[in-house]
Amino acid sequence: MKNVVKLKSKYTGCMLGAAIGDALGKQNEGLARKDILNRGRITDYGKAPAGCPGEKLREGQYTDDTEQMLVLARSLIECRGFEVSDFSGRLSAWGKDALNDPLRKSLIGPASASAIVRLNSGMTWEYSGSDIPSCGSAMRVAPIGLFYKDPDDIEFKAAISSVPTHNSKGAIAGAVAVAVGAGCALSDMDCGGIIKEACSRASNYDVDLSKKIKFSYGKRDYEPDEVFSEIGTSYLVYETVPSAFYCFSRHFDEPENAILEAVNAGGDTDSIACITGALCGALHGATSFPEGWIRGLENGKMIEEVADMLFEISLSRR
Ligand SMILES: [Mg+2]
Repeated sequence: MKNVVKLKSKYTGCMLGAAIGDALGKQNEGLARKDILNRGRITDYGKAPAGCPGEKLREGQYTDDTEQMLVLARSLIECRGFEVSDFSGRLSAWGKDALNDPLRKSLIGPASASAIVRLNSGMTWEYSGSDIPSCGSAMRVAPIGLFYKDPDDIEFKAAISSVPTHNSKGAIAGAVAVAVGAGCALSDMDCGGIIKEACSRASNYDVDLSKKIKFSYGKRDYEPDEVFSEIGTSYLVYETVPSAFYCFSRHFDEPENAILEAVNAGGDTDSIACITGALCGALHGATSFPEGWIRGLENGKMIEEVADMLFEISLSRR
């Protein structure tokens, strides 16, 4: 029974961690690291400065990263597993709505935006994906790592989940790495073991991304100024995903510090922190985050309910 309670908290932690990282990180989205450090490190919720994509969002409000993750989680719940046609349908409906909303339109990346337009024009999911190697499928994918226990299932479903919007080998490998990483964190593997499995699975799609994640792990004891400038922090999957694994590895036992490292990394900070938060939450559970972060998160209760439903439905598979 104790193990079931712990596992449930890890589901909640993974989804809350992603949303918390996203809501904190949106305050620095698109800013250079040196400008962030000059303004003062972000350690709590607030509004994004003028000029940032999320400037119109409220304190504690998350961005498209978490919205897409919720679309995926709800599809998994409704279909009792991953069905790509259901997921694509939900994503195109969500995207149509988001692209028509002046508040949220600027948050959506170029690959997702073009794919949403194609899906809504009637193109099927096999053909709608963009070949831009950005991180949009990696940032939303964690629920697949929660739902499936068998690593082969996690790898395959994560890969397919990328295709409707992100059809490049790098983006697919990024989604696989993050989903496998979340699944391994759920199983309490040690840091080296998590990285090894994530890299091994990602290398089935893109050896370069796999090598870069391994490189970022090797840099975990090096200073962030040096590492972020070496790895990069742009929206490209080759930068966001290795940077997130660096933050996660560097502060493996300190989820709060891992998320803050990501939030202040520079560049695509909402996505880097979203991925870092998902990995940390899957490892440490929901109670590992500061209470104020959970209380101040918009729709936190709803996210917990979705995580609980995902837990209930997937429990029979465990
Ligand atoms: Mg975003």
